[in-house]
Amino acid sequence: MKETTIKNILDQDSFSKNDLMRLLQTTGENRTLLFKKSAEIKEKYIGNKVWFRGLIEFSNVCGKDCLYCGIRKGIKNLKRYNLSDDEILAAAKFAYDNHYGSIALQSGELESTFVTDRIENILYKIKELSNGELGITLSVGEQKPEVYKRWFDAGAHRYLLRVESANVELYRKIHPNNKKHDFQRRLDCLKSLQDIGYQTGTGVMIGLPFQTIDDLAGDLIFMKEFNIDMCGMGPYIEHADTPLIIHSAQLLPLVERFDLTLKMIAIMRIMMKDINIVAATALQAIDPVGREKAVKIGANIIMPNITPGRYRDSYKLYDNKPCTDDSAEDCQSCLEARVNLADAEVVYGEWGDSKHYEKRRKGAKAQRRKGTKAQGRKG
Ligand code: SAH
Repeated sequence: MKETTIKNILDQDSFSKNDLMRLLQTTGENRTLLFKKSAEIKEKYIGNKVWFRGLIEFSNVCGKDCLYCGIRKGIKNLKRYNLSDDEILAAAKFAYDNHYGSIALQSGELESTFVTDRIENILYKIKELSNGELGITLSVGEQKPEVYKRWFDAGAHRYLLRVESANVELYRKIHPNNKKHDFQRRLDCLKSLQDIGYQTGTGVMIGLPFQTIDDLAGDLIFMKEFNIDMCGMGPYIEHADTPLIIHSAQLLPLVERFDLTLKMIAIMRIMMKDINIVAATALQAIDPVGREKAVKIGANIIMPNITPGRYRDSYKLYDNKPCTDDSAEDCQSCLEARVNLADAEVVYGEWGDSKHYEKRRKGAKAQRRKGTKAQGRKG
């Protein structure tokens, strides 16, 4: 029997796990074919465009102890910071004044009524200062469904919560084994975000210790089956003060983690044609034009850092994080030039919502209408 070629696989409408593993291992001409296909799909479904989300890393205080993360609770020699409400609002105003369609608020993970009230209040204020025009993404970890609902009602409409790895065994190896780091809770949180009506984003780290190609193929299948609206995936980059550092010798070289990340993005774009895909900052820690490469082969979102400069050094999730000594203005002009290099155009003044989300909502509404009619006929 003739062996299926990569071209044959790329011509299919759906991929088996085995297909995905083969795509992830392509080299040479086959790799070029993969990237050509994903670029074509991006062009067709999204256009040659990039939307900015001004990223405000408003606090590095974290209650969790994820074994890979540079802001984990256990790191004692890190200066912890928490932007004042005024500083957060000033950063949001900067985004609004510079016609960014959206911002993303990200921080370490804390669950408390103080945090819930504070974020709710800030969301209302951001909506107020931008006449309701700034889109808002939140990325502040696992919370109770009622907390997610309050923030949704206050104006956040997208939420990013990476599953980090969809393989529960790998998840357990990269997190402490306790109730605070429970895989099932992560999944439950993602589900409640989707049920509340957020554009829901998730993603994984690529090149983690113990991770296999089989795991990465499983991650892609998980995201497709979960029917996500947005995806943020980046290479794992070790941080010297974290427990996972002892496994450094077993890691893939950085360039290979980078290459695998590009392939994950390309395949995700082919599998889920109309979702939003972020070109993660971590790509740029490995390759100076890493994010632009991701834009070329499928990503359509970039998150320029607009955190006030003096705090950036302390939000080091991994070693060698880029742009920590730039200002928000530097980030914008540098990124715009870079995006142009990737032959894409930055879209200002638009939210740049996930098209997939719009379709999914319309589908759900039609389904409900059908259900009501059927009920009517029955009754
Ligand atoms: N606490 C928030 C967001 C902060 S961390 C949340 O849980 O969503 C944001 C992301 O940074 C994490 O989801 C993780 O995927 C990534 N990250 C953390 N440490 C990293 C490392 N060492 N290398 C690469 N990415 C890392």
